[in-house]
Amino acid sequence: MRYVRLISLCLIASQVFAQNPRPPQRPAQSTVYLLKPGQVFDGESAQVHTGWVVLVHDDRIEGVGPAANVKVPAEAKIVDLPGTTLMPGLIEAHSHVLLHPYNETTWNDQNAHESLALRVARATVHLQRTLMAGYTTIRDLGTEGAAYSDVGLKQAIEQGIIPGPRMLVVTRAIVATGSYGPKGFAAEWTVPQGAEEASGNDVIRVVRDQIGHGADWIKIYADYRWGLNGQAAPTFSEDEIRLIVETAKSTGRAVAAHATTAEGMRRAAMGGVETIEHGDNGTAEVFRLMKEKSVSYIPTLSVGGANNQRKKAVFKLALDSGVTIGSGSDVGVFPHGDEAREVELLGAAGLSNVDAIKAATSVDAKILHMEDKIGRVKEGLLADLIAIDGNPTKDLSRLHSVKFVMKNGTIYKQ
Ligand SMILES: [Zn+2]
Repeated sequence: MRYVRLISLCLIASQVFAQNPRPPQRPAQSTVYLLKPGQVFDGESAQVHTGWVVLVHDDRIEGVGPAANVKVPAEAKIVDLPGTTLMPGLIEAHSHVLLHPYNETTWNDQNAHESLALRVARATVHLQRTLMAGYTTIRDLGTEGAAYSDVGLKQAIEQGIIPGPRMLVVTRAIVATGSYGPKGFAAEWTVPQGAEEASGNDVIRVVRDQIGHGADWIKIYADYRWGLNGQAAPTFSEDEIRLIVETAKSTGRAVAAHATTAEGMRRAAMGGVETIEHGDNGTAEVFRLMKEKSVSYIPTLSVGGANNQRKKAVFKLALDSGVTIGSGSDVGVFPHGDEAREVELLGAAGLSNVDAIKAATSVDAKILHMEDKIGRVKEGLLADLIAIDGNPTKDLSRLHSVKFVMKNGTIYKQ
C-alpha cells in the first residue's frame, strides 16, 4: 500500500513538473520570406553578389542565389530592401551587457553601489540596442559583479520576453585569489569581487560550479593590474590554467582568457585556452605560439584608448604571425549599440574591409564553434540576416546604418 501511495505521489509530482510554467511560445506557424536586397555579402567571398535573393523558411535560410535560380513558394512574403547589402547578422565576441560606460559610473561603483535589479533592467535595454545595431549573436564575457544574471537574460531572450541577440555566457568569470577588484577598502574588510576567486586545485570546483549555473564558456583573467606598482602581472600559473581548461573541455566547453602581458598570454596559450582577449603587450613570439596552438586573438581595439598607436603596432605583429583574428570590442566600457566601431578599427589597423567584416561574421562564428549555424548567408544556416544601407565592403562606416534585422527568421527591424 505504501508502495502504491509512493507511486501515485511520483505521478502527481511528474504532472506538476510537466506543467512547469513557461511563458507562452509563439504559435508554430510556417513563415516564408523572400528578401530582395540590392546585393548580398555572404560572409565568405570577397565579392558581393548583385541580383541575389534570399529565401527564409521559419528559422532557416532555405535558398540563396540569383533570383532566377531560387524557387519561391506562392505564400512567400516579399521583403524589398533596395539599395542595401544583405549580410550575415554580426557577431560580438567580447561584450559585457551588465556594464555601462565608466564615464557614467566607475567600474567600482557599478559593482559596489548598483543593485542587481538596476543592472539587469539596464542590461535589457543594452541587449535591445545591440540587436537593433545588427548584432544577432554575442559572447558575453563576464557579469562583473552581477552574479549569474547573464543566464537569466539569455533565457528571457530565448523565451521571447525581451528582444536581444543570441547569447553565449560565462557567468561570473574566474580570477586568481586577491588579484581583482573592487580594491581600496580597509584590509580587514571582505568585499564582494567583480569575478569569482579561485586558486590551486579549487579552480576545478569553481569551473564546475559556473557550468552548473549555466556557463557556455569559461572566462579567466590570466593577468591583472596587481603588480608591485599596480602594473599588469600574471595571475594563474600555467598548471592552474591547464586544470581550468581540462575541466571545462571535458564538458565540451572552451576557455577565454583576458591577458595583456606577454607572460599572461604565454601561460594562457600553453594552458590550452581558445581565445586571448586584449593582448596589449603581445610579442611576435607569443603570437607565433598562439598561431601554433590555434589560439584566436580578440584584440578589442575599441578600448585601446590613448595607447592606440602602440596597440596598432602590436596588432601588426599579430597580423604578421597569421594568428586568427576575431571581432570583439569589450562593449560596455563604451555604449552598447556601437559595437561596429570594432570592425571599423580592425579595418583601420590593417585588415581589408572584407576581412574586417569576416572577423565579425564567419570568423567569429568559427571561433565560437557555431560555423554550422551562423556567420554566413548559406542554405541550411539559421536566418540571422541584416541589411545595411549601402555597401560596407567599400566603406566600413556603413555598418552603423542597419536598415533590417532578422534573427532566427523573426524580423526585429524593418
Ligand atoms: Zn572585457
